[in-house]
Amino acid sequence: MAQVQLKNVVKKYGALGVVHGVNLDIAEGEFVVLVGPSGCGKSTTLRMVAGLEDITGGDIVIGDRVVNDLPPRERNLAMVFQNYALYPHMTVRENLGFSLKIAKKSQPEIDRAVDEAANILSLTPLLDRKPGALSGGQRQRVAMGRAIVRQPEVFLFDEPLSNLDAKLRTQMRVEIKKLHQRVGSTVIYVTHDQIEAMTLADRIVIMRDGHIVQVGTPLQVFENPVNTFVATFIGSPP
Ligand code: ADP
Ligand code: MG
Repeated sequence: MAQVQLKNVVKKYGALGVVHGVNLDIAEGEFVVLVGPSGCGKSTTLRMVAGLEDITGGDIVIGDRVVNDLPPRERNLAMVFQNYALYPHMTVRENLGFSLKIAKKSQPEIDRAVDEAANILSLTPLLDRKPGALSGGQRQRVAMGRAIVRQPEVFLFDEPLSNLDAKLRTQMRVEIKKLHQRVGSTVIYVTHDQIEAMTLADRIVIMRDGHIVQVGTPLQVFENPVNTFVATFIGSPP
């Protein structure tokens, strides 16, 4: 059964349509990458799944619930953005535990979840540092740690690596892949970088102008692009 379903999802800003009836089924544990040129509607689509944007038409289903009218915190998902802001005055430990504290978890529960996330992301030696004393890659790992402490069923990533330099980006791709293998959650990952999409995805969803143009494994898309747009996009440098 699909973990996340988009059924004819439409988004309009006033008269301007930006997502034109998107259909997509994502299986439990699957790593799906939405890829396409800037402005094609990737972030809008992800933000509708997250509950950060209202949908104009269609349904979004997570598990067995239609979540169209549910606020983000009731959707059992966690989102990591490009411009992740850590709390500068808090230590890494406090940053990681903050959402659980807000959710009124007990201190032993928070400590257990934080220690586990820190272990998965190799942050244990950094728990007492503040964000100002971390590298870009370490800060990005803390941002991911904040998402995984909540043990969501679904992770949403929106260009999480685009502020990092090329070398770190490559390293972090490997980290994200390992994280997915270890945690096993369902992932929807947005990027405009086709190399990132090809290396991370179980399935790639290629978008253009608010439509899905092709869905397939990286190999299927690479070997059988449906049109010259896909062929050019996949074959061009990032
Ligand atoms: P992507 O993430 O693929 O770069 P977006 O989903 O951010 O694309 O944007 C899709 C389209 O919707 C763009 O044309 C963008 O200008 C437009 N758009 C995004 N947010 C808004 C908004 N709040 N109001 C009006 N138009 C918007
Ligand atoms: Mg975007």
